[in-house]
Amino acid sequence: MAKLYYRYGTMQSNKSNQIITTHHQYTTQGKKCLAYSTPVDSRSGYKKIKSRIGLELLCEYMHEGVYEEVETIHEVTRVHAVVVDEAQFLSKTEVHRLSDIADYLDIPVICFGLKTDFRNELFEGSKTLLELSDAIDELKTICQYCNKKATLNLRMMDGQPVNVGETIQIGDEEYVPVCRKCYKDRLDLI
Ligand SMILES: [Zn+2]
Repeated sequence: MAKLYYRYGTMQSNKSNQIITTHHQYTTQGKKCLAYSTPVDSRSGYKKIKSRIGLELLCEYMHEGVYEEVETIHEVTRVHAVVVDEAQFLSKTEVHRLSDIADYLDIPVICFGLKTDFRNELFEGSKTLLELSDAIDELKTICQYCNKKATLNLRMMDGQPVNVGETIQIGDEEYVPVCRKCYKDRLDLI
């Protein structure tokens, strides 16, 4: 039985690079791998996944009819995997439909995303993925201020840490990966 995977990490934890590499591994073996992202984040360009080190991958945008879409393609050409970037922005329904792809089409679905927002609260997509996934992995990176593992995203505005604003704020320069203690220390300075 195929699995639903969730690989989460903070900002700068190499997620986009890993998703592009995973896709490349399937396609170089002649295996069809479908790539999706969410339309919330347009920094990479229209229907594109872009990594920090310059790799790019064309993708489709996620929608609630994803199960039927993958099923239709799978009937013509076997689909070996589905990869999903920016999975924190998925709706609860979309995550359930992705789990159906693993369960009823027997195709592994590998989702990459953030776990929490800058208030350290779960996104809807992340929460549902943590509840439903068969396998959960953490992609690690280092705290901006010390050498501990980063687990949180600190929001920065004009070089200063902030803890207010909309949940969805896009722009890499506005977030830094930090450990829990540095997160508290920086917000104490406000
Ligand atoms: Zn730290």
